[in-house]
Formats: sequence, C-alpha cells, structure tokens
Amino acid sequence: MSGGEEVQVTPGMQEYIDKAGDYLARRDKYIREVVKKWKFDTIAVHGLYNVEDAIEDYQGSIIEPIFMSTAQAYRDSDEMAAALGYMIPTWCYSRIANPSTYYYEWTLALLEGYGFDGVTECCSTSSGMAAIMTAVQPFLVHRFHNKIEPRNFVATAQCYGGTFQQFNVRLMEERDIECRWVTDPTNIDDWASKIDENTRFLYGELPSNPGLSFFDIKVVADLAHSHNLPLIVDSTVATPALLRPIQHGADIVVQSVTKSITSSGFGVCGAVIARSGIVTNIDNDALKNNFSIYTKYLPNRDYGPNLHPMQAIMSLNDMRTLRTKMDLLSRNTMKVAEYLKMHPQVESVEYLGLPSHPLHELASEYMWLVDAEHDENYGQPVNRYGHLMSFCVKGGPQVTREFFDGLQRIWRATDLGRIKSVATIPAISTHQQQGEAGRCLANIPPNMVRLCVGAEHPDDTIADLDQALNRVGSKTAVAATA
Ligand SMILES: *Cc1c(COP(=O)(O)O)cnc(C)c1O
Repeated sequence: MSGGEEVQVTPGMQEYIDKAGDYLARRDKYIREVVKKWKFDTIAVHGLYNVEDAIEDYQGSIIEPIFMSTAQAYRDSDEMAAALGYMIPTWCYSRIANPSTYYYEWTLALLEGYGFDGVTECCSTSSGMAAIMTAVQPFLVHRFHNKIEPRNFVATAQCYGGTFQQFNVRLMEERDIECRWVTDPTNIDDWASKIDENTRFLYGELPSNPGLSFFDIKVVADLAHSHNLPLIVDSTVATPALLRPIQHGADIVVQSVTKSITSSGFGVCGAVIARSGIVTNIDNDALKNNFSIYTKYLPNRDYGPNLHPMQAIMSLNDMRTLRTKMDLLSRNTMKVAEYLKMHPQVESVEYLGLPSHPLHELASEYMWLVDAEHDENYGQPVNRYGHLMSFCVKGGPQVTREFFDGLQRIWRATDLGRIKSVATIPAISTHQQQGEAGRCLANIPPNMVRLCVGAEHPDDTIADLDQALNRVGSKTAVAATA
C-alpha cells in the first residue's frame, strides 16, 4: 500500500524494508503461534505488548507506555522515505498512528477475532461515531466503476440515536446518499427487498441501543455476500466478551469503546475491526485486503478522527477484565430485570435475557459468555446478555419522569455501559433529535426508561428502583380512586 505516487527504492531503503520484513514475519508468527492460542482473558490482559518489546524499546516498562509525542524521528533519509512511502511499519505522526494506539488496536483486533481463524486488524478512532464514519465512508465513493452513480445502503432502523442522525441527516439529507431503513431486521426479505445494484453495504446494530433489536447475523451476512456487499455490525452493547460478529460472517465491526468495553467512564473512544479480505463491490485492493489498515493510513490520515494516546492506554487498561466484568454486569441485570417484571407499576420490560422477550431465542444462539467452558464456575457454555435493558413505566410520560426524578443513587445521564448504574429516558435525551417519526421508526415510546445496570450489589440497585416506583405507584393508586 502506498500513500501516493510510486517511490524510487534506494539500496539504503531496501535494507530498512528487508529488516522490517523480518520483524513483521516474527510478529505474525508470534500472533499465530502464541497469542492466537491464548484464552480470551490472557489476550485482554497482554494483547501484543510483551517482555521483548518492553526491554528492547520501552526500558522494561510493564505497562504499555503513553507516547504523547506528536511525531517519530528517523535515523536518516532512507528510513524516512521508506516510512512515509508506507514500506516499513511506522507511526510517522500521531494523527496517522502512534505506539500507544498501536497496542490498543491490537488488543481490540485480537479480542474481536477471538475464535476466528483468519486475521483481524483494527483502526482506532476518537469516538464510536468516528468509528461508524470510518467504516462507512470508504464504500460511499461517488465515482463507481468509472461512472457517477446514485448511492444507497441498507441499515437497521433500530439503532443508536447518533447513528440515526449520521445516516439520516449527514448522509441522506446533506449528501443525497440514500439510507434504506430495515424496520424488521429478523425478516430477511425486508433486507433483501432493499438491495439493488447501487447498494454499497449492509449495516446492522445488535443488540440495538436502546430497543434491544437483534437479527440473525449469519443469514444477513450470507445475503450481503451473495450481492458482493460487506456486512458492517455495531456490537457495542454486546462487546467481544459476549458476541464476535466476524466469526459469524460479518466483515467489519464498529465499537464505541467508550461504553461497556471500558465501562470506567474515563473518556470517549472507538474502533473499527475488520477481517482481511472483506467482500465488497468497490474496486480497491488495499481496501479489500486490509480494510482497517487502509482506513487508518489513507482516509483517516486525511480526515483526522484519530484517538489520543493517553485515552488509548486508559481504555486499554479498562479492557483487561472485560470477560469477568461482562459476566457480573449481565448477572446483575438479569436479577434487576426479573424484579422489574414483577412490579405492578411497570408496563413492560425489555431484556434479551428474559425468556419472555420475543428475540430471546435468537439472541441465545449468538450471545455466550466467552470461555465459560474453561471457567471453573461454569465448566460449560452459558448465555449472557449484557447490561442494557429498558422498561416502560405505567401511567404515561409524566409519571415516567416523576419515577425517574425519584431515583436516588442510579445516575440520570445519557450514558451507558458504566460500572455504575445509569438510567435515561431516550425520548427526551438520546433519541430527542430524531423527532416523533424517527422514534416511532425505532420503536421508542415516551414512557421508556433505558437502564444500564452497574456492578453495585443488585439488591441495592433494586432497592433504589423500588422506592422510586412505589412513590409514583402510590400516587397513581390515589389518582385512580379519587
Ligand atoms: C454510544 C454509541 C455509539 C457512539 O459512540 P461514541 O463513543 O459516543 O461516539 C455508537 N453505537 C452505539 C450502539 C452506542 O451505544
């Protein structure tokens, strides 16, 4: 892959290229023969950072260093020319790459690729929204097979509010790129009927935020591939501890690493993870062969949605316990969901873990706690459904707000994926911008509360919900008898 016009290779450059070739062969062998054989937890803890790297390059630091430097210096002009021509591994300038973001990227690439035979790579981004932009823009090139063609893509209507805005306003209204919304993603004909010769990709969020919509990844991936299109999946809510879409045929995964993957709440960051050799009708070998690296070194070099190295290491640090954390958070959420389901003031509860949820069976085919069969507490595969749930409060939007205002320890914030329980009313927050029609499309009623259960003891979370529900409950009871 080259950054521009053909570069004349001098003998000095060739020496650097040969040395880099040896290094890359050693790294690939280490990934293939050592790291890919580790369990999920070991990869989450170590990623690609090892004793050799630490001793040779980083003065033995056992934690990945934070490289705040803007730029990389080169030994001589030969090394610089080889580096800037992308002929040797390099980080050049921190908008393009950086040693700290490098380790963040590899941990995420390996976790998303866990259990998948092929190669996965990752491009870090400044946010989840930047990850979505990074993943979709390369397919929306205007000139297509040497002609200017209309462009469209097919996406699940039940998606994060920011995604809805990016697709609906930025792409559709401002640039005439048609987003064809799938309203029932479990119906494969709904997807199929929207694809034509100008379709560039299929996009699905699962489980969706906040509606917990789900679809059959294998079936949708097969449909995409039969049309020579990639399937892009946002699986932020699941995290790779519970679901790894690439293993099931997806080409590209986007993550808002801001959310459950980190859970600490220390800042915003994102990632695009792709398998090598994606399926696409775009005629561009670099994009096809290694999508993440292509976007990182070319389009993102030019647009600049890069991740800060400080953020990369803070987030990396949060990922090391991802599996056990998602297990605990999922179990707590299950207890809270079961409690809410029994409460007379609650109209309905949406949680994929509840057998009564219409998508419970489908989600159960895909959402498994990684390595449960190697965990001494389980010794067999177990389903886990994450910590996002929603419920509707009886009595309408006003009563819902009163209940919400009565919460004493659960935080009222437009956030999710936290180690602390956080709740929001989507209709007045995350999904406020898209208006009544958009909310209707995405199935967001005004009395819906989105709750993301944290790592507090579930009895305490339930107690907080209980006092807030009983307060409005006694009021509606009085109103009913009055
Ligand atoms: C939050 C979120 C995003 C956007 O991520 P940011 O890091 O906030 O930019 C995208 N998708 C889903 C499912 C999200 O929950």
